[in-house]
Amino acid sequence: MANGPPDSPAISVIVYEARCCGSGNCALTAPNVFDQRDDDGVVVVLDPAPPPSQHGLVREAVGRCPTSALGIVER
Ligand code: SF4
Repeated sequence: MANGPPDSPAISVIVYEARCCGSGNCALTAPNVFDQRDDDGVVVVLDPAPPPSQHGLVREAVGRCPTSALGIVER
């Protein structure tokens, strides 16, 4: 399994649920970290503190969110 660099900071995933329009970009880009509710498609965070191996995909997913509903906090 690929890992991030040793000095890679831990991250927390932040969701502004009210902004989510259910486009699904995040779940397609990082399916280990994001899913969508069955009834309305709103994002669900599966792993709010993903391991370094997921950080690249999470950053990509944040960048692909059309409504800026996702964020990252470095810890
Ligand atoms: S990419 Fe953004 S708008 Fe689309 S489902 Fe994910 S959080 Fe919601």
